[in-house]
Amino acid sequence: MGNYFNEEIETMPLDKLQALQSERLVEQVKHVYDNVAFYRNKMDEAGIKPEDIHGIEDLHKLPFITKDDLRDQYPYGFRAVPQNECVRIQSTSGTTGRRVVSFYTQDDIDIWDTCCARAIVAAGGTKDDVVHVCYGYGLFTGGPGLNGGSHKVGCLTLPMSSGNTDRQIQFMQDLGSTILCCTPSYAAYLAESIHERGAMDQIKLKAGIFGAEAWTEEMRHNIEKSLNIKAYDIYGLTEISGPGVSFECSEQKGMHINEDHFIAEIINPVTGEVLPEGEKGELVFTCITKKAFPLLRYRTRDICVLSRKKCSCGRTHVRMSKPLGRSDDMMVVKGVNVFPSQIETVLLNDGYEANYRLVVDRVGNSDTIAVDVEWLPSNPPKDKDEKRARESKLFGHLKSMLGIAVEVSLVAPKSIPRSEGKAVRIVDNRNLYEESTLAN
Ligand SMILES: [Zn+2]
Repeated sequence: MGNYFNEEIETMPLDKLQALQSERLVEQVKHVYDNVAFYRNKMDEAGIKPEDIHGIEDLHKLPFITKDDLRDQYPYGFRAVPQNECVRIQSTSGTTGRRVVSFYTQDDIDIWDTCCARAIVAAGGTKDDVVHVCYGYGLFTGGPGLNGGSHKVGCLTLPMSSGNTDRQIQFMQDLGSTILCCTPSYAAYLAESIHERGAMDQIKLKAGIFGAEAWTEEMRHNIEKSLNIKAYDIYGLTEISGPGVSFECSEQKGMHINEDHFIAEIINPVTGEVLPEGEKGELVFTCITKKAFPLLRYRTRDICVLSRKKCSCGRTHVRMSKPLGRSDDMMVVKGVNVFPSQIETVLLNDGYEANYRLVVDRVGNSDTIAVDVEWLPSNPPKDKDEKRARESKLFGHLKSMLGIAVEVSLVAPKSIPRSEGKAVRIVDNRNLYEESTLAN
């Protein structure tokens, strides 16, 4: 049976859990209506008053929030408490115009830390463990989230942050790290580097908590084998707090959502209709305890399946599958969110048309991204030097838009294959998504 950080909450019978959610939802809707003008206007337009929400059975009446809403309301539009009650911000990795700034009260941070503490305990963590956090710290939520969770459990916490592989391995050996927290691709890279150094016999790792990017079961098996650990998945997003919105237990079949803090729904991404348990659709979250940045019915764009099938760990909280895809065209490349529309904006600003092909690949454990762009028939480069100069100009503009280096090649008009007249724009060779093992 499982280890719990808070057994009473994590194994609460469904009827009690739903009563708790209802009570918290009613209070949260009032809080948001009173303090977030944007959402109050949306509710007014839809003819919904806070008094119309009596419990989770009324959740479907509330309007959705999208990432575009958050962007339009940047930076303070969704903040629901005065600034002097906020103690922290975190932010998404998106670039100008795509950033989301999330605010936290001290209570919000405590809730977030608790969610991450549950993930660490579910992965076998106790106060005797040494938790090695090499997610990035700073604005990114990965480092601070697992760091706070590790403190709550009482583990010795190594705030390593990302990069400097030599130092990571040295500390792992010298301080006897037992639980590794990072992205799965970095875990795979660390494993390789440890084997190259012949240092495996000095590594005491027993578990890993890996998230912030899509990974396959095959990758899980490879990491487990090479590091001799059990690898657990963790899910979250900055808009909803950070990692720890859901986490895997020893069963390793889907991630339990912390339902005392978040209500999950699956909707049809086209019609917005709520789908029954077990059906595949877009994951939507409602925060019922956060006060500073409490989103109601936030559309994650992640395609998932939910399951209430009994779990052998004893937890009653609903499980979600790994994301099985996206309902928009966002890609995560080198840990950064990339939207094709950002690339198109740069091309149009630089006087090109949107005839391009973006190729994303994974070589070893790192992502590569390259773009071919057709020059205009009316404006071919005069010679090799001019072509190179134009490529390097585009490279600079793409880098400042996306925050990552994209290899640029200018190519002749009509040289990119067309599908129904349009250039085939996105080729993602990484095969990150697979079928769910959770479906009923
Ligand atoms: Zn479980």
